[in-house]
Amino acid sequence: MNYYSLHHKSPKSTFKNAVVEGLAKDRGIYFPDNIQQLSKDFIENISDYTNHEIAYEVIKQFVGDEIPAEKLKEIVANTVSFDFPLVKVDDNIAALELFHGPTMAFKDVGAKFMAQCLEYFNKDNDDEVTVLVATSGDTGGAVANGFLGAKGVNVVILYPSGKVSDIQEKQLTTLGQNITALEVDGVFDDCQEMVKTAFLDEEITKTLTSANSINVARWLPQMFYFFFAYKELHKKHKDLIFSVPSGNFGNICAGIMAQKLGLPIKHFVASTNVNDTVPNYLVDGVYKPKPSKATISNAMDVGNPSNFIRIQELFNNDLDALKCAFSSYSFSDDETRATMKEIYANSGYVADPHGAVGYLGLKKHGLKENEFGVFLETAHPVKFLDVVEGTLPVKVEIPAQIKKVINNKKVAYKASTYQDLKDFLLKK
Ligand SMILES: *Cc1c(COP(=O)(O)O)cnc(C)c1O
Repeated sequence: MNYYSLHHKSPKSTFKNAVVEGLAKDRGIYFPDNIQQLSKDFIENISDYTNHEIAYEVIKQFVGDEIPAEKLKEIVANTVSFDFPLVKVDDNIAALELFHGPTMAFKDVGAKFMAQCLEYFNKDNDDEVTVLVATSGDTGGAVANGFLGAKGVNVVILYPSGKVSDIQEKQLTTLGQNITALEVDGVFDDCQEMVKTAFLDEEITKTLTSANSINVARWLPQMFYFFFAYKELHKKHKDLIFSVPSGNFGNICAGIMAQKLGLPIKHFVASTNVNDTVPNYLVDGVYKPKPSKATISNAMDVGNPSNFIRIQELFNNDLDALKCAFSSYSFSDDETRATMKEIYANSGYVADPHGAVGYLGLKKHGLKENEFGVFLETAHPVKFLDVVEGTLPVKVEIPAQIKKVINNKKVAYKASTYQDLKDFLLKK
């Protein structure tokens, strides 16, 4: 499968090259050249397939012959190695829980898939590749875990000192081996800026790549769980509406790709916190990125969502067509807290702040008689312990995955300027 840059100024790329490069040379993000619908037969009989078989069917056209079928099946099986349960919270609404993986956020899926692809592509290369990633919280842990032990791959994670939760910090600073954490004296944007500068620095001759959601190998496997949910629901409910708590808009863009492959999804709702660039765009047709604002659903504090351009491409840049299939609404922290309480009072379900924003999106959109709403529960409530225990009368039990890291010793190098990162990369 070939990929083109959405800036249209670089030549087409193979899957391998798109994974290894991350971004095209013209700084555009990659998009698949050709999208084939899956057979009607497969969609209609989806209940006959295991999750591993479904994931393989969904991803294979995007990899083509660049990874042998048997190897790709193995990669998919390692990626989809946990459950994706649907939990009903209302008569016509269910949470799709994406947090049963090793770091308890949906990012485990993309990180594990990408790590294995990169390891495969680099297996005959004597030079190591360095994955540089800036995190505001969940990405760091998922990437650290997904890439742990990957041969020929070094991972450097930059995170803002004091701005990630204790659990998130432990998840990204305690694994060792090929994973190094840099604790940056600054905010997330500073980390991101340092990563961007490194990519443009000609004195760094190592192969650098990015593991942010712009990488096609992190983005595309996120289609899998839309199919899994459909498999569970399609016999009872015809018209499915998905609400996706959105920050960089990679997850919802994967859902729209699933629809493009033929998955019958009636409508998408992109639910955001007060970082409302996309909801505003749908209202007035003007795309105005702005600096991000801090909220209690902090994994979605993004002012210029990097995957939105892919969504526009999927609708041929036709705003009216986009509006028919896609809505986007923004919610405040007060509304989010009130909704966490409402969901808990009605059903006893403990939603994390991101999931609550997703639920709010379904309520705002409204569900007609024959419609069924699914909101993505993107992280386990334990990852936002202060907010959850401060809002609901509950004590969140610490799951085994978290217990495993919580008492490990943090190891992180300090960095305050780009030169610190550069020195670190040059001596490694
Ligand atoms: C990353 C993240 C999001 C946002 O996902 P995007 O693909 O960037 O839109 C939402 N919720 C949680 C918990 C996350 O970690």
